[in-house]
Amino acid sequence: MDRISSARETMIRDHLKARGIRDPAVLRAMEEVPREEFVPEELVEFAYGDYPLAIGEGQTISQPYIVALMAELLELGPEDRVLEIGTGSGYSAAILGRIAREVFTVEHYATLAQGAASRLRRLNCGNVTVLLGDGTRGWQEFAPYQAIQVTAGAPHVPKALREQLATGGRLVIPVGHHPRMQSLERILRIGENEFRREDMCAVQFVPLIGEDGWGDDL
Ligand code: SAH
Repeated sequence: MDRISSARETMIRDHLKARGIRDPAVLRAMEEVPREEFVPEELVEFAYGDYPLAIGEGQTISQPYIVALMAELLELGPEDRVLEIGTGSGYSAAILGRIAREVFTVEHYATLAQGAASRLRRLNCGNVTVLLGDGTRGWQEFAPYQAIQVTAGAPHVPKALREQLATGGRLVIPVGHHPRMQSLERILRIGENEFRREDMCAVQFVPLIGEDGWGDDL
């Protein structure tokens, strides 16, 4: 077995299953999406390590466990339309795209958005669309979404994201008073005006900037 396949097996067994990731669709997606294609060339040998990696613009691709945990918390079905805020490398969008019907993912930096879009095209992730803009406003055009995932830390839950969540939908987002320390929250939209909030665990994401985030100059 080559080094990449063996590193991928270790990731699935020791970093995901051993920590309680159970959703078969999530585990399958994590097995199938080549994470090494989403990291800078000089970091390929670390692609399956149990940590985040730098991807440019001061941003990171999340640790595999966190990607899998968020996907599992979204409880995705094959018919779901998903919104992701924070495309970064495009890796987590590719994972969601293997499970759900379609994924719209919004990125603030043009360089990252372009890199992710061409990577996703090359890997035949045809149901993932990359949009350039301020994700704190969501993406009204394709709303409502059965699931929304935010992969940057927010000071509070942006209003637009609540509004664009379908009734019965799930929103997973790191929220915290410090720009780099958050608690991972899941918000369920139970009715038109009824939401339930669940606190999952402590996490450390890069800050969500933008109009309804930490502002543009962090
Ligand atoms: N999901 C990514 C990791 C993203 S890191 C992956 O799998 O690689 C967080 C990303 O959120 C960064 O790329 C950052 O530029 C982006 N981001 C921060 N604030 C944003 C905003 N308001 N709108 C869209 N993207 C934002």
